[in-house]
Amino acid sequence: MRIGHGYDSHRFAEGRRLILGGIEIPAERGLDGHSDADAVAHAVTDALLGAAGLGDIGRHFPPGDPQWKDADSIKLLAHAVHLLEARNHQVVNVDVTVVAEAPRIGPHARAMQERLAVVMGISPEHVSVKGKSNEGMGWVGRGEGIAVWAVALIDSVEDLSVVTKGHRDGGAS
Ligand code: MG
Repeated sequence: MRIGHGYDSHRFAEGRRLILGGIEIPAERGLDGHSDADAVAHAVTDALLGAAGLGDIGRHFPPGDPQWKDADSIKLLAHAVHLLEARNHQVVNVDVTVVAEAPRIGPHARAMQERLAVVMGISPEHVSVKGKSNEGMGWVGRGEGIAVWAVALIDSVEDLSVVTKGHRDGGAS
């Protein structure tokens, strides 16, 4: 098993939709960015790439690349999952903390969990999305943007078969 950590932050901007975890959340402002600025999808993508030792989101999806302009970040996450699968890695679970003064994340957490789970091919029970305020402190507290932390556990399908074979061999001897 391997663990990965991801972090992302985006600044609020007028005239943008707020997309988090692949879900559009009703809000006065959205987040600024080259893609759709889905900080949850970006943090989870980085956690998965980190767990697999595959670098980071900027290496796979350069921010200046025109093909990722206003990109649906769920597609970036899906691409990362494919990269993992090609290396016999499977996502076990993901835990996400979204830090923002507004809007409230809780009412949208379940929808985000379900969307992220489908993309990663796991049960929504294995995806956790939690919202916190920053108690008015710092740039998050001033409502300048949103910060997201994510951790992901992945398992190697290859290693699993080795473990199973080991048990079999052990039982036969
Ligand atoms: Mg980002």
